[in-house]
Amino acid sequence: MKCPFCGFDDSQVKDSRSSEDNSAIRRRRECMKCKQRFTTFERIESANLMIVKRDDTRQIYDRNKLFRSIATPLQKRATTTQEIESIVKDVEAVLNDTAVKREVQSATIGKIVLQQLKEIDFVAYVRYASIYHEFSELDDFEEILAQLKKGNK
Ligand SMILES: [Zn+2]
Repeated sequence: MKCPFCGFDDSQVKDSRSSEDNSAIRRRRECMKCKQRFTTFERIESANLMIVKRDDTRQIYDRNKLFRSIATPLQKRATTTQEIESIVKDVEAVLNDTAVKREVQSATIGKIVLQQLKEIDFVAYVRYASIYHEFSELDDFEEILAQLKKGNK
């Protein structure tokens, strides 16, 4: 990202947040050379972003589909739509960073979703892993079963 003041092409991100309508990520940057600050809006070109599935087939990134995949394991759990939205946003922040390549592995997305679910709702975390076969991402399956038995939510 070129500095608008001195043209230097290296800057440090000071703050990242979604724009009002969630369609872009607003970043506050500081030029590494002249130290002036500027704001960038980075839009996710989701129409051009391909998700590479485990079997090497490709699918166009679909925000609604991602939302549904997170909402499914959270059915009948005490989770708000906002919490699901916030996971989607976290995923998109990563997609936005890797979008240069125009391709993202589905496993990468699964990993981010799992990390977030683990903090929000342990049962949904296990459900997600079982629905999308991401068991390799679970820390230790035995330990998880033990925790579930203990009635750990
Ligand atoms: Zn500068």
